[in-house]
Amino acid sequence: MDNNTLKQRDLRTLWHPCTQMKDYGEEGTLPLLPIQRGEGVWLYDFDGNRYLDAISSWWVNLFGHANPRIGNAVKEQLDQLEHVILAGCTHEPVVELCERLIDITPEGLDRVFLADNGSAGVEVALKMSFHYWRNVDRPQKTRFIRLSNSYHGETLGALSVSDVPLYSATYEPLMLDVITVPAPDCFDREDGETCADVARRQFDHMEQALAEHADEAAAVIVEPLVQCAGHMRMYDPEYLRLLREACDRHGVHLIADEIAVGFGRTGTLFACEHGPITPDFMCLSKGLTAGYLPMAAVLTTDTIYQAFYDDYEKLNMFLHSHSYTGNPLACRAALATLDIFDSDPVLERNRELAAHIDKRLEPLREHPHVADVRQHGMIAAVELVQDKSRRTPYPWQERRGLHIYRHGLTRGALLRPLGNVSYLMPPYVITEEQIDFLVEVMTEGIEKAVRA
Ligand SMILES: *Cc1c(COP(=O)(O)O)cnc(C)c1O
Repeated sequence: MDNNTLKQRDLRTLWHPCTQMKDYGEEGTLPLLPIQRGEGVWLYDFDGNRYLDAISSWWVNLFGHANPRIGNAVKEQLDQLEHVILAGCTHEPVVELCERLIDITPEGLDRVFLADNGSAGVEVALKMSFHYWRNVDRPQKTRFIRLSNSYHGETLGALSVSDVPLYSATYEPLMLDVITVPAPDCFDREDGETCADVARRQFDHMEQALAEHADEAAAVIVEPLVQCAGHMRMYDPEYLRLLREACDRHGVHLIADEIAVGFGRTGTLFACEHGPITPDFMCLSKGLTAGYLPMAAVLTTDTIYQAFYDDYEKLNMFLHSHSYTGNPLACRAALATLDIFDSDPVLERNRELAAHIDKRLEPLREHPHVADVRQHGMIAAVELVQDKSRRTPYPWQERRGLHIYRHGLTRGALLRPLGNVSYLMPPYVITEEQIDFLVEVMTEGIEKAVRA
């Protein structure tokens, strides 16, 4: 096999996610990347080129590609039990995983429901919250409160509570009727304001929405600290503390979607620890299996669980199911991932790596077209603008970020900017030298993007 042959075969048959296929067609300007194998932070194509995976393959990979510790755990499980129905059956990997998830997540999350991808996990949390209120005789609580610029997945319910018009505008007639509250985005800080100030100022909108809609609102859903798909916009943990208190006061659930930020990305194992807060529902996926197999977990409280625990005839139970719920191979990958967190100083090392990223990105703050360099732990983003003093964005039609993407590929780096925001969210096995390389390539790419 070689790069070209595989590309031709692909373009005759596949329809790629999140892609205008014409970009890759005859007149397209984007190269499709055929990957033969991965090793650590590197992805190798068929013609001997390699690319540093700066985005952890869409934020899923934690400990590098083809990690033998995770790979061997999955291989061993393969000879034992590949899958079994989880309704009426149980198995060791699933029980051990749920026990350990309860141990490591915030105090008070004592039940685990499993699904097989992030969006499905969000659907579970939304349905469970809505259903809880019915079960406790509050059937008028049917609506969800979301933040502006939020992203929670692509299935219709998850898309409804997302606010990225690029993905959802087309489907507006199919969307749930949700309540949108302006995000506490620190990019919008005024002169002299800290991110905590922005959080407190913006919380007024949330307080107002909760006061106004408490009778009809089932839950507020947020991505703690970083709105990843929403151009890596970030906010202060103060907002989480205020939100937890207000949700309790108004009797509205809090759903923390930690699908992207969980498992160490923001510096702590879970972003909610920055509060610290315990949400009523915590959605996990992506890093849960370190990027090995699709799986999601929704953790919730005993209070929620008890509202469904009843005589069959009451028909109160949560009947949601997915064929691959609790897949043993995925559970083994997740357990091996947790073993690595247990045995290696992952978070300590990440702190050093994050400090290094911060130091290396520092000079970009002075760049005439860089409006913001922001970071929460192992997520760092650089936002390009046309006019720095007014923070005027480049028109989206110019697709400036693609210059960085294309340049990265010629230099052996898989950087995949979100619009005008270039970011690093690498596997934790990256070295300081590799970070230096990525920042160098990103800086060159930014020069190309602003000159284009
Ligand atoms: C990726 C993501 C999802 C959706 O997960 P999928 O597995 O892609 O369906 C939901 N929420 C957040 C915050 C995400 O980043």
